[in-house]
Amino acid sequence: MIKKSPKLLKKHANAFQVEWKDGHSSWYPYTYLRQMCPCAECTIIRHKGRDVHSLFSPQGDGDITLIAVSDDIQPLDIQLVGRYALQFNWNDGHATGIYPFEVLRETCPCPECAPLPPIQPEKENPES
Ligand SMILES: [Zn+2]
Ligand SMILES: [Zn+2]
Repeated sequence: MIKKSPKLLKKHANAFQVEWKDGHSSWYPYTYLRQMCPCAECTIIRHKGRDVHSLFSPQGDGDITLIAVSDDIQPLDIQLVGRYALQFNWNDGHATGIYPFEVLRETCPCPECAPLPPIQPEKENPES
């Protein structure tokens, strides 16, 4: 069952917009979207040097800055995959990423969905 479904998908000059059935509107800058690519190859790059378990963390996105993206990244083509995902064909030749709507909604970069990360508990409470 699709819990998060879009009612509008739109390509803009520098960002992709998804308007959801619950009324929320998400804007994904293309650089961000490319860095968030959920394919295995990009996931491994984002988790370089980390414990393998971080691959299965709730968001599973790792360090997006490890993905090198040029400023003029653009999707050449965006295709619907079934009814659950989008596949982006990027102008850097990368096209293996399938972005499920659930993941897109979870990774919405707006301040409402992605507030500043909380302070790490271990830093709040030093043992020494
Ligand atoms: Zn990828
Ligand atoms: Zn949002």
